Amino acid sequence: MSQTTSLSQIYLDANATTPVLPQAAKAAMSAMEELFGNPSSSHITGLKAKNLMEQTRNHAKQLLGANQGKIIFTSGATEGIQTAILSALVNAKASLNPNKTYTLLYGATEHKAVPNSLAHWNQLLGINAELKAIPVDGSGNLDHDFIAQEAANALMICTMAVNNETGVYQDLAALDRLIRQHNPDLFWMVDCVQALGKRALNLAETSIDYAPFSGHKLYAPKGIGFMYIRESAPFTPFIAGGGQEGGLRSGTENLPGMAALNVVFEMLLNQDDSAFFPVSTLLDYRVQLAQALQRAFPTIVFNHSFSNSVPTTLNFAVPGFSSKEIMDLFDAANIRVSSGSACSSKVTGSFVLDAMGLPTWQSESAIRLSFGPAMTQAEVDQACERIQSAANALGNSCLSLNVDAGAQNKTPLNGLVQLKSGSSCTWIYADHKSQQALIIDPLPELEQRIDTLLQCQQLTPIAFIDTHGHADHVSGRVALAERYLPQQATDYLGWPAVHALTDIGSRPVQAVKVGELTLIKVATPGHTKDSISLLLVNPQGTVLYAFCGDMILMGSLGRTNFDSSCAKQMFHSLKLLHGLIGDHTLLCPSHDYNNEFTTSFGAEFTRNALLNETINGVMPIGLFEQQKVQLDTHLNDEMGTEIICGAYTGSCDKAVIKEYDAISLKQQFQQTQTIKLLDIREPHEYALQHELGELSEHSINIPMTRLVQFIQQHQHDKQDEWVLVCRSGSRSMVAAQAMHRLGFSNIAHLKGGYALSR
Ligand code: PLP
Repeated sequence: MSQTTSLSQIYLDANATTPVLPQAAKAAMSAMEELFGNPSSSHITGLKAKNLMEQTRNHAKQLLGANQGKIIFTSGATEGIQTAILSALVNAKASLNPNKTYTLLYGATEHKAVPNSLAHWNQLLGINAELKAIPVDGSGNLDHDFIAQEAANALMICTMAVNNETGVYQDLAALDRLIRQHNPDLFWMVDCVQALGKRALNLAETSIDYAPFSGHKLYAPKGIGFMYIRESAPFTPFIAGGGQEGGLRSGTENLPGMAALNVVFEMLLNQDDSAFFPVSTLLDYRVQLAQALQRAFPTIVFNHSFSNSVPTTLNFAVPGFSSKEIMDLFDAANIRVSSGSACSSKVTGSFVLDAMGLPTWQSESAIRLSFGPAMTQAEVDQACERIQSAANALGNSCLSLNVDAGAQNKTPLNGLVQLKSGSSCTWIYADHKSQQALIIDPLPELEQRIDTLLQCQQLTPIAFIDTHGHADHVSGRVALAERYLPQQATDYLGWPAVHALTDIGSRPVQAVKVGELTLIKVATPGHTKDSISLLLVNPQGTVLYAFCGDMILMGSLGRTNFDSSCAKQMFHSLKLLHGLIGDHTLLCPSHDYNNEFTTSFGAEFTRNALLNETINGVMPIGLFEQQKVQLDTHLNDEMGTEIICGAYTGSCDKAVIKEYDAISLKQQFQQTQTIKLLDIREPHEYALQHELGELSEHSINIPMTRLVQFIQQHQHDKQDEWVLVCRSGSRSMVAAQAMHRLGFSNIAHLKGGYALSR
C-alpha cells in the first residue's frame, strides 16, 4: 500500500486522515456495484448486504475485545461522541438532585469535538453542570489526583486513548481503577479514534461505557465510523427514523463504508495477510524519521516523550521557525505534515501543548508528522531523503546554517530584507559589494535568524540600531552588538559615535555609510522622546527608504500616550519627515499589524485623514493633539493584551483583487505574453518546486521578505500586469492587496495558488 497519492507526494498526516487502502477501496467499489442492497430488504440482494454488515460488526467486536457490548455504525467519531454524551446526559438528567451541583469532566488535551459537544448538550438539555478540564502533566498524562477529587460530583468523564497531536496514550487500566474507586456510576467515554490499529484495546475488560471510532483515520473512507456501547450503559438514539441498527441509529446503512472497514478489520485481525506492519516495525520507522529530522534540523526539539506515545506520531519544533514556515517548506518538498497551530500572521499555539505546559515558542512552532501502520520502508526512506533536501534548501537560502548543505548554493543578498515576528518588523539592509549590513530594530526572537543570515552571507554589520526605546519588547540590539561590534561606541539606541556629518534639506545631520549608500539620522520625537527616523539615501541623493519606527504605521499614527510621548512633537516630526522625503518614498515602520509591508505618505493620505490634514491641510497643532488623544483612547480595547503602538485611523477595507485560476492564467499568458509572474514564496520553497510549466519559467521569485525592495525598484512599472503566486493563494492575496494600495493598479493573483493548479 502506498502512502502517496501521486509519485511525488509523501503523505505524513495520517492523524488528520488516511488515504483509502486499495483493498478497502476495492471492497467499497464492489459493495456499490454488486452488494448494493439495502440491508433491511428481505430479498436476496438485501440479505447479502446484511450479511456483510453483520460480518463487519463481528469483526469489530473481535478486534475490540467487546463481546458483551454493542457495536453500532455511525458516520464517524464526531457522531459517536454526540451519541455517547447525549445517552449519558439524558440518563443523568432523570435523577439530578436540584440541591447539588454537578460537573462534566474531560481531558484538557481532548479533541475539540468532546468539550464542544459536552457544552452543547449540557446547555440544550438544561443540565447546567460545570465543565471542568482535567489537567495534564508535562508528559500529557491526565492528573489522577484531580480525577480522584472531582469524580464524586461528576455526571460524565471523557478521556482519550491516544492524543491526535502528540500520540501520547493514557493508562486506561489505571484510569479504570481510579474512576471506579471514586464513582462506580460515573459514565465514562473514551475517544479511541487514534488508538485503532496502534494500541490493543480490550474494551470488555474495562468499565468504559462508550468508545467512538472513525474509519477515515485508518484507511477506510470518510463517512463511516462505529462505536462501542457497554451492555449496561444507557442509550438514547442520536438519529431516530426507520429503526435501522435495532433502532439505535436510524438511516439506511453505509454499506460501501462498512465493506471497506471490514477489510481493514480483517487485516488488523490477521497479521499474516495484512498491509499493516507490527508495532516493532513502526517503532523502527519512528527512530529513522526522528534521526532524519535531527540530522536535518540539529536544534530540533520533540514536543512529547517517545516513551508514552504511539510510534506513528512525531510532534516537534525547530527553534527560530514558526509552524507555518516549516509547513510551507515541507509542502514545497512535497511532504505533507500538519501544523500544531493556526496558520495566520497572528500566531496562536496548540492548546494541547499549552495544556502540557510547554514553552510558548514550542507550541507556536509545533509540527505534527504522522503516519499509518501501512507505511512501507521505501516510503520511510523517501521521507528521510526529502526531509534532508528540505533542510538543504533552507541552508541555501541562509535561514539555517546547515553544515551538511554548507549553504554553498546560496544566492548573494543585496538590498532590503523585512523580517517579522508576529506584527513586529526588523529591517536588514545588505550591500553585496562591500559585504556590509545594517540592522534596524532587531527583535530578540529573530536574533538567531539575523545571526545565521549574517554568517551565511558573510556580511559585516556596521550597526544595530533601534528607532526608539521599545515599550512592548526588549531589543535584540545589545546581544547582537556585543557579539559583532564589541568595540563600537554608540549612543543607547545603537547609533555609532563615529559618524560623518552631511546635510539634507539644508539641515546638518549625522550619517554613516553602508556601501555606496548613506544612512542619515533625523530626530523625530513624538511617539517617544527618543524616536528617530533613519533615511537610506543613494549617491544621487534620493531617499530609498525611511525607517520611521512607530511614528507612522500602516493605517495609523504611533500612539502618543506613553509617559515619554508628546503629540505636539509628533506634529512637527511628521511635517519634518514629509519635508525630507515627500509623498512617494517608502516608509518602513517597526510594526505591521495588518500585513501591509510598507507605505508612503501618499498612500496614507487617502485613508488617514489626520495625517493628510496635518501635512496638506490646515490642521492646527492644538486640534492635532486633541484628535490624537481621542484616537489613543481606543488603543487598549483593540487587541487584548498586546501593546499596540498605534491606533488604526483608516478603513480596514481591502481592495478587490483580480483573480486567475490556473487555466485562465495560462490562457491570458498565451494571448498577451505581457503578464509578469511573481512567485512570492520563500527562496527555499521556490528552489524545491516550480509548477505551472512554461509559465513558471517566466516567473521571478520575490519572497515576502523582499517585497518592499521590489516595490521600491518598480515604481515606474506599476501599471504592468503582475500576477502574484504562492502555495495556497493566501500570501499572494495579502501581498497583492498591499501592492494595490501602493499604486500597482493592474495587480492580480492566482486563486488557490499552486496547490490547485496541478
Ligand atoms: N477524536 C479524535 C482524537 C480525532 O483525531 C478526531 C479527528 O480528527 C475526531 C475525534 C473526530 O473524528 P471524525 O472526523 O470521524 O468525526
